[in-house]
Amino acid sequence: MRKNIVAGNWKMNTDLADTQELIGGLKSIAKTSDAEIIIAPPFTNLYSAFEALKGSGIEVAAQNMHQSTSGAFTGEISASMLKGVGVKTVILGHSERRAYFEEKEDLLAEKVNTALENDIKVIYCFGEELKDRNFSEHFEVVNKQISQALFHLDADAWKHIILAYEPVWAIGTGETASPDQAQEMHAFIRKTIADEYSQEVADSVTVLYGGSVKPANAKEIFSKPDVDGGLIGGASLKAEDFMAIVNAF
Ligand code: 13P
Repeated sequence: MRKNIVAGNWKMNTDLADTQELIGGLKSIAKTSDAEIIIAPPFTNLYSAFEALKGSGIEVAAQNMHQSTSGAFTGEISASMLKGVGVKTVILGHSERRAYFEEKEDLLAEKVNTALENDIKVIYCFGEELKDRNFSEHFEVVNKQISQALFHLDADAWKHIILAYEPVWAIGTGETASPDQAQEMHAFIRKTIADEYSQEVADSVTVLYGGSVKPANAKEIFSKPDVDGGLIGGASLKAEDFMAIVNAF
């Protein structure tokens, strides 16, 4: 059985004090669902988040990582640095990294390999832009984003991959994919993996939906059979909202 996961991508928000406050809030609200919780604060707050979350069952993820293990890459962060501060998961391929830092599938494939070689799980993000959907090219775009970054992996490696479908037009816009649109794409994603690997691999991979998920719409989106949780941006910055989404399962 695949896991249900709700992950919070804090993006470039929260300083150290905000991080402690938000974690205090998260810990004070009871979890009533079976969903696993992951939070992804900025790099500077990862260690303090990890320390503050010890024993809580909430995991810490990074929002990005360099593909090389070390070297002259001023300003970058490596997999072993992340591991050293308690990070078990890294978000790769977020649409903001693709749009503002020109990250493409070949680079993302390298980052995925480096993460897995360092025993770090990957939340691999992808999703079409509005123009792709308007031209009915969204399935083709998603197929390419998945196949070119991940299909070099062997079937076993998929145990360490979580997928996050985030249609760009729904991120931070207040507009969500309808639950049926999300289900349609998630079913397509699972079929794409089944065709390349096996039904078993496809059925075991957790596929998250991201894009304007809120307490008010989470339950309906999560009720879809191929939606296994969410990657939450804005609503992950408020403890009550985020835990309401976690508890929507
Ligand atoms: P919002 O929930 O703010 O739309 O952001 C989604 C997202 O980009 C999560 O990675």
